[in-house]
Amino acid sequence: MSTSANAEHVASYYAATANPSPERTALAGDIECDVCVVGAGFTGISAALHLAEQGMQVVVLEAARVGFGASGRNGGQIVNSYSRDMDVIEAKYGSETARALGDMAFEGNRIIRERIAQYAIPCDLKDGNLFAACNAKQMQGLIEHKTLWERYGHHELELLEGPALKREVNSERYVGALVDHSGGHLHPLNLVLGEAAAFDISVVRGLAYYTGIVFEAFDRAGKFRAIFGGGRYDNLLAQVGGRPASGVGLGFGDVVIAELLAERVAATPAADGADMHVGFMDEAQRLAALRFAAGLRGDGIRTDMALRPEKAKAFFARADRADAREAAYIGPDDLAGGTVRIKNMRTREERRLPL
Ligand SMILES: Cc1cc2nc3c(=O)[nH]c(=O)nc-3n(C[C@H](O)[C@H](O)[C@H](O)COP(=O)(O)OP(=O)(O)OC[C@H]3O[C@@H](n4cnc5c(N)ncnc54)[C@H](O)[C@@H]3O)c2cc1C
Repeated sequence: MSTSANAEHVASYYAATANPSPERTALAGDIECDVCVVGAGFTGISAALHLAEQGMQVVVLEAARVGFGASGRNGGQIVNSYSRDMDVIEAKYGSETARALGDMAFEGNRIIRERIAQYAIPCDLKDGNLFAACNAKQMQGLIEHKTLWERYGHHELELLEGPALKREVNSERYVGALVDHSGGHLHPLNLVLGEAAAFDISVVRGLAYYTGIVFEAFDRAGKFRAIFGGGRYDNLLAQVGGRPASGVGLGFGDVVIAELLAERVAATPAADGADMHVGFMDEAQRLAALRFAAGLRGDGIRTDMALRPEKAKAFFARADRADAREAAYIGPDDLAGGTVRIKNMRTREERRLPL
């Protein structure tokens, strides 16, 4: 992301309580990208984030700083409506257009909440909006508003009067209100700053920040996607607000590792020649099995530890194939009783040891 002036946000409650964000440098020279977005407000940053999530190289050009415009200084209300109500839109543009716009209002609400959750954006999100009526005529307007929006699939509206209203607003001023349970309020500047941070991280993932060698590691058979990848970066720390320092970074694909391990475990027989094989029935016994195996190893006993739960039959068959001397299998009863059954695989004799 590039800004030219880093002009300060206009003074406001939001600016005074903004989360820290990095100073960004002005664009110098040429830069190549798939899409260049102009303006780092809700529109630009959200579009950039969507595009980056699709794997595109995106550059955002901003004249001042992220959230400098309306996005950093608005009311912060998530309202499921437009400045003209749906009946006006429907009368002027037809029901099809009105329905599409109604759906878009809900979609926008959903996208905001998804972004906040996905990128853990701290922006003081609170659920619900209240539209209060000062007199009977306004109340009638809210009743009609509710009926109108229900035609567009909005079923989270609730009319309040009497004690129910008092629970929300303890004032004699209002005769009633309409609550939109799906509406909300947030800190708009922190939302756009948080989305900008998420967008920058997407660029980082897209290799744009590497300044030197870039590497990826694959399994020898070339069956899986990259197990891990990384590269050299000279500017990254300064770009995210730290001291300038070069470094090499790499990230592992946890899904790929899990897939690779699952295949290796299935294909690999238990270690031959171990004195003791330790297995367990399900995840609840894994920790006890690990501790037991660690204790054996500590006593100098060469121990093979199962990597995943197995049925007893499969475990003892595997231990047999591996020519194990002894095998210890921990099930729920062993765990409850605090001992484990040890089977001598040659003589078939059994003994118990404390867990
Ligand atoms: C007082 C007020 C209250 C509001 N309250 C609400 C509310 O409660 N709820 C709600 O949903 N909406 C509200 N809005 C509307 C909402 O703020 C806007 O719809 C939204 O912020 C628009 O976002 P944007 O990204 O399109 O524009 P902006 O946030 O204005 O972003 C445009 C960005 O582009 C940059 N820029 C402009 N020209 C250039 C250029 N040539 N080169 C590089 N950069 C450039 C600007 O510096 C700016 O940062 C309110 C608006 C105002 C003004």
